[in-house]
Amino acid sequence: MPLVITEHLRQDQALLTQQLDLTPAEARLDVHVLAAHACGVERVWLLAHGDECMPPASASHYEQSLARRLSGEPVAYIVGMREFYGHRLMVNADVLIPRPETELLVDLALARIEPDDAAQVLELGTGSGAIALAVALARPGARVCAVDKSIAALHMAQENSRQLAALNIDLVQSDWWAQVPPQRFDLILSNPPYIAEQDPHLKQGDVRFEPLSALAAGQDGLDDLRHIISEAPNWLKAGGWLMLEHGYDQGAAVRSLLNSAGFAVVETHLDLAGLERVSCGRKT
Ligand code: GLN
Repeated sequence: MPLVITEHLRQDQALLTQQLDLTPAEARLDVHVLAAHACGVERVWLLAHGDECMPPASASHYEQSLARRLSGEPVAYIVGMREFYGHRLMVNADVLIPRPETELLVDLALARIEPDDAAQVLELGTGSGAIALAVALARPGARVCAVDKSIAALHMAQENSRQLAALNIDLVQSDWWAQVPPQRFDLILSNPPYIAEQDPHLKQGDVRFEPLSALAAGQDGLDDLRHIISEAPNWLKAGGWLMLEHGYDQGAAVRSLLNSAGFAVVETHLDLAGLERVSCGRKT
């Protein structure tokens, strides 16, 4: 006898909590997202229909998704999407899953672009296009150039750009600065890889399934941040800003790199967890 949805999901939540070292709240969200996706409904539907059973086809789709999750695969890859800055983005294992803390980088960028400003914006390492699209959609007068070295990532960003009907974004294949179009920007943004190669975090949880090239950057995790910061002055207009996401313990190192590269007004902003997460510098 199949279980009603409430009971079905409660049992799977317990299973996930045990097997994946998740909090009950995290496991609950996971099973609800997987079940809603399998049933082709919004999450609230599951609550309103908790005393019914899942239709057999949906139940079988859901069981397959749950098995993938139990083997550690991130929910975003299983359902093929993740929300970021209020937009639904398609994601797959070719791109980093957008993180909520990265919305801070978008907030800071938007705070420096007037609503109808024709600002020239560059994003380095765009992945799914999350940051570039959030900026482009909120500032239709701006032009956003988003680069990535991975063609597979650019395909995903292109698909997201089409789905979200962004008209003011250009996607370019470039290994950091190598193929950036020769022009000066008002704003340069990046959430580069910044985890130290040997960090045990890379061998745990969801990140094991994400592209290592989007996560790890040399012995101290600062290789790409160093490269970005040292070149950025050549690509910024006077008065332009460089804004970078980094690890919670890299604020001092990134500020020091920005100061050494000649940036002024060097400042670090805290994410919602109160951790140093984004540092900015202004070209004089
Ligand atoms: N913040 C991510 C994590 O800790 C890493 C993202 C990145 O390296 N840019 O998993």
